[in-house]
Amino acid sequence: MKEGLDILYALQQKDDQLKEIEAVIKDIPVRIKELEDERDSRSDMIEKAKKKLQDNGEERKKLEREIVAIRDKIAKYKEQMKKVTTNKEFQGFSNEIKFEEANIVAVEEKIIEKMIDSDEIMGGIRDAEIEFKKIADSYNQQIKDMLSNLEYHKNKLAEENRNKKELRARVDPKLLKAYDSLFVKKAGKVVSYVHSDFCGVCNIKIRPQILSELILSGDLMICENCGRILYKKIVDDAEA
Ligand SMILES: [Zn+2]
Repeated sequence: MKEGLDILYALQQKDDQLKEIEAVIKDIPVRIKELEDERDSRSDMIEKAKKKLQDNGEERKKLEREIVAIRDKIAKYKEQMKKVTTNKEFQGFSNEIKFEEANIVAVEEKIIEKMIDSDEIMGGIRDAEIEFKKIADSYNQQIKDMLSNLEYHKNKLAEENRNKKELRARVDPKLLKAYDSLFVKKAGKVVSYVHSDFCGVCNIKIRPQILSELILSGDLMICENCGRILYKKIVDDAEA
């Protein structure tokens, strides 16, 4: 029986280890998704620069339309000028036309400014693309590392499952049956390692009578509080 309990405890440790590996395998894809989202969100620096260029283009078109409108105005003035009778009226249109022509020059200057701005903005887009590529490369490397880590843990899981199978084959069938039925009820924690005289899982102090029976008889003892199979290394105790 003592021998059986040792293997049962080894089986519990193996199941604990498998649970940890499974948790890692479950967690890695979640972390990869987070990294991907973070990486993609950084690409909006490029989108912002592109939007600026688009706005610049629209502003230029608006200014060009302004010039067309002013030219129309000037053409109308010139038509009206043909019909004037007084010198005063003539002078009035002439002044209006000069004013509007100066206006055109001012708007043309604004267009040139916008063109210079657009060169800068295009430079900004290139910079943003280079910057984003650097960021994306770093994220992609992290994702790649995580994928190989995932691969490693999947292999590890397969290997440890084989080891578990071997362990189970060595456990006394009756013990194994008890272990399996408790496994679901006790959330995978069936065997409790006894530290001095405390249950390793629920931490309650074990009655001396049960403790001595556990040590002397090696019978299957259950924690009176949490219902788990108690395990104590007999050799250590004999030495102590
Ligand atoms: Zn307990």
